[in-house]
Amino acid sequence: MISSMGLKPLGGLRTRASMASTMLRGGPGAAQKRFLSIHEYLSMDLLNKYGIATPRSIPAKSPEEAFKAAQSFGGKGMVIKAQVLAGGRGKGHFDSGLQGGVHLIKTPEEARDYASKMIGNKLITKQTGEAGRICNAVMLAEARPPAHEYYVALLNDRASQLPVLIASNQGGMSIEDVAAENPDAIITTPIDFEKGLEQSKALEIAKKLGFSSEKQEKQAADTFVKLYKLFKEKDATQVEINPMAESKDGEVLCMDAKLGFDDNAVEFRQPDIAELRDPTQEDADEVEAGKKGLNFIKLDGDIGCLVNGAGLAMATMDVVKLNGGNPANFLDIGGGADAEAMKLAFKLLLSAKPKALFVNVFGGIVSSGKVAESLVEAAKSIADDVNIDIVARLRGNQEADAKKVIEGFGSSSGVKIHPVFDLDEAAQLAVKLAAARG
Ligand code: GDP
Ligand code: MN
Repeated sequence: MISSMGLKPLGGLRTRASMASTMLRGGPGAAQKRFLSIHEYLSMDLLNKYGIATPRSIPAKSPEEAFKAAQSFGGKGMVIKAQVLAGGRGKGHFDSGLQGGVHLIKTPEEARDYASKMIGNKLITKQTGEAGRICNAVMLAEARPPAHEYYVALLNDRASQLPVLIASNQGGMSIEDVAAENPDAIITTPIDFEKGLEQSKALEIAKKLGFSSEKQEKQAADTFVKLYKLFKEKDATQVEINPMAESKDGEVLCMDAKLGFDDNAVEFRQPDIAELRDPTQEDADEVEAGKKGLNFIKLDGDIGCLVNGAGLAMATMDVVKLNGGNPANFLDIGGGADAEAMKLAFKLLLSAKPKALFVNVFGGIVSSGKVAESLVEAAKSIADDVNIDIVARLRGNQEADAKKVIEGFGSSSGVKIHPVFDLDEAAQLAVKLAAARG
């Protein structure tokens, strides 16, 4: 139990970001779509705005702020929680050596001490990879010892094409394990999009989960209804509460929240949510690309792909895969493709140290000849530092010019550009050249 764990890291439920989506979408990484996630302390505010009960909490951005925040809890027990956009904080560790991103504390001095070991350091959890993620703030919350921990999530379910509420009375441990070992312990309830979650249905779910009395059942049902309201009104793609707890003093409280929003909807429908984005928690290269209007996604293969248009991006990745290769990343250069954009594109694509580049750009609005010129200019700019083969398929408007420009370049120092116009042949060559560099 938590109270007996003293100051040891609290190990609760691990993979916040992925566990619900893992169950519905078939594995982490299956979904390449990016969602806006917001920090726990901001999520708590949003829950409270919807009348959802949470332990009282205060964020702090420095050890001194943490000290002051802790004083306002009047000597009651607290938890200090690293604000890092990743699940599994409880079981994570800092590059400063501190174990655990969630700790039970009693005094303002402890708050200051922990904050100084968390803020400015990177938290490594099983969701962040070895690089970890910078912690720029902590959250202090009143410690409301849980008598029992539950799991609740709202997601869109592809199979039923409806929002679903997923609930389990076995929170506080990996929900994937529960799903695998004891699927009956997970209750999935489809929700009518228009009608929303009815109170009576919410109460049914609460009764199935089991609480100590009718009072908590009603509180839980009420929480489910409000969580769904938030989910729908804010264009969320994921609301995951783990744990939702019945505290020893008999209240139903959301003790952790992982909220994800539909990136596209947020941009124009949810300006207040868009403001909550924290770029320090995102991949720096992807953020830089986004600022320039380029869409850059990192993958884990060894062929860098430069394309224009989302459809061509998907087709390019498919054809690389069909030919036995694996994309290292893809960058959608969009409509521009001038030399500056091309240079930035190269910089980003090469950051993954791919073994070959596959440029598959269609000349529609922009002419292929122009794209070829930008490509050659960017290639020249990297030729002295990089050793790489580039397969260039520049079809479309003025493609003959494009071919001439590229043949004119041929190779320079470490860079060789191969113009290939047939899609399959181009992909095959990219795969072959990457493999040759083993
Ligand atoms: P995660 O590891 O990133 O999912 O972080 P959590 O916020 O879920 O914290 C890990 C564990 O710490 C939870 O499963 C709870 O057992 C415990 N915990 C989290 N928040 C509180 C709180 O406000 N009060 C108490 N007493 N325990 C908490
Ligand atoms: Mn959690």
